[in-house]
Amino acid sequence: MKLYSTLDRKVTEIVPIKKGQISMYSCGPTVYSRMQIGNIRAYVNWDILHRAFLYLGYNVKRIMNITDVGHMTSDDDFGSDFGEDKMDRQAQKEGLQPIDIANKYIDTVLDDFRDLNILSPSGETIPEDLNYEEVGEYGFTRATEYIEEMIDMIKKIEKNGYTYETKQALYFDVTKIKDYTIFTGQNLDEKNVGVREEVDVDPQKRNPADFVLWMKRYGKYKNHIMNWESPWGNGFPGWHIECSAMSTSLLGEYFDIHTGGVDHIPVHHTNERAQNIGAFNHPSVKYWVHNEWVVNKDESKISKSKGNVTYLPTLVELGFDPMDIRYFLLSINYRTRIQFSIEALEGAKNAREALVRRLRELGDTKGDVIPEYTGRFKKELENNLNMSGVLALINELLKEDLPQKDILATILDFDKVLALNLEECITKKEPMDIPSEINALLEKRMLVKEEKNYEEADRIRNQIENMGYRVLDTPKGQKLEKI
Ligand code: AMP
Ligand code: ZN
Repeated sequence: MKLYSTLDRKVTEIVPIKKGQISMYSCGPTVYSRMQIGNIRAYVNWDILHRAFLYLGYNVKRIMNITDVGHMTSDDDFGSDFGEDKMDRQAQKEGLQPIDIANKYIDTVLDDFRDLNILSPSGETIPEDLNYEEVGEYGFTRATEYIEEMIDMIKKIEKNGYTYETKQALYFDVTKIKDYTIFTGQNLDEKNVGVREEVDVDPQKRNPADFVLWMKRYGKYKNHIMNWESPWGNGFPGWHIECSAMSTSLLGEYFDIHTGGVDHIPVHHTNERAQNIGAFNHPSVKYWVHNEWVVNKDESKISKSKGNVTYLPTLVELGFDPMDIRYFLLSINYRTRIQFSIEALEGAKNAREALVRRLRELGDTKGDVIPEYTGRFKKELENNLNMSGVLALINELLKEDLPQKDILATILDFDKVLALNLEECITKKEPMDIPSEINALLEKRMLVKEEKNYEEADRIRNQIENMGYRVLDTPKGQKLEKI
């Protein structure tokens, strides 16, 4: 397998530490809101990678964290430690406790993962009844359940001389790591510009780029709801330590692959790497791999803190099948930016439906997989997950003069990685061809329902009925039936 290694700055052969086994850690969701299409992309991408390793015969040991404490609103842009805790802020908005917010949104993550055929980190299909209580058994690790491991790791970092303490916090002194900015190649002064105002919040902080390992329940955070005892006083962990502590305590001091979005390169992963060196005197991650952003049409990043969000249930309500979203995201290489728009999604929907129709024409008997094609499929995967190559290969195979049942068996075999539910889709009845005027009306109805304008919603329902379709309001959104 070859992947783009961010530190090597090139596509690199992945040589696992233990032959035949891949240890992989994926930065997971911060559970203060539903996932938007950008987060979803990250998880679809790394699910494809996970499935590709399984298809290629590797044994995969994987962990994905769930951030339920300590991620500051300001962390994303500058790596400032002094914003508001995202969980706390949302808890206040919804009138709930932070832990209830976490539980609520973990369940939405599980719903979306299930709908999108994303495997659990442990490599299993996510069971229908799995909820926030048992996620740990499936390889999802909650930060609040690893406070002890974090404290242990911070103690090591402290003992090795990489920290200093102020009234407010225990900091990591980044000047102690000689190649601290290795990911970006920036010098420390450039990096400091973004976080300069921090010295106003904690005058004892030495270098603006230093980051918090443990924040004390003091000053601005005097009333922080989630808090634990520690050698540095009552408080809560900085955001970055959770990933270092969970990855190394579960995968070992050395592990193969660490995934995340490109937004994590300059701060979160830079700091994770520094912490690993601080604790173990050596880096822990062999290959860092990053997915590019999903952006709006104007190239601005889609993010849940900015409000311009797109959730899976909303897209389903607009008439998309979750498999359309999966197809859309997997058809583009993880290192390419994706411009998100409804038109682009419609293109993916059409392509996926055409594929399903074509597969139906192959009949309903499965033959044998065609080794030449499974071999080429593996090569495309191993080539830095060349998914456009995979889709081209499928098209080529569909044109081959070979037994139809073997072509079918081969493409269904590819679906172990694509996970587009192809077998289920071809046996399901033909999807309804919904006229675009009806889709537009459905979209409008969804919006007016959100504004609680039920009178208008009923009017649109009648209008759609006059055009020959009945609208049903289900927990998963609007459904259409032909009258
Ligand atoms: P968060 O829940 O904000 O901690 O993000 C979870 C994951 O989604 C991280 O790996 C982010 O890098 C990734 N992510 C967030 N927004 C986007 C986006 N617009 N495009 C791609 N990945 C994203
Ligand atoms: Zn992380």
